[in-house]
Amino acid sequence: MEPKVLKIGIHKYAISEAMLDGDEGSQKWGGTDWDESTIEIHKPLCKINKRLALLHEVLHVIFMHTGIQQDEAERLCNEMEYPLLEVLTKNEEVIRYIGGYK
Ligand SMILES: [Zn+2]
Repeated sequence: MEPKVLKIGIHKYAISEAMLDGDEGSQKWGGTDWDESTIEIHKPLCKINKRLALLHEVLHVIFMHTGIQQDEAERLCNEMEYPLLEVLTKNEEVIRYIGGYK
């Protein structure tokens, strides 16, 4: 089941899939609308790429709430998305412990 909402602080971002327009020569995988508090993931992506795109947008939301500038945030998101996905994928016990889940 795909998640429908991302909560951070007092904010809630609605998550949905959509047909996103690409930039010149590349397809946009995801996007966050700060005014509408929405995250959209490109619908035709395969499941693993949807997960990666959502993680990228989650990182954007985290950085947005830290005040890091957008250009720097994009670089950090790109650098962190693969290693963080790997940690999240391969370490369920650690993630459950950090998150306080049983
Ligand atoms: Zn980005």
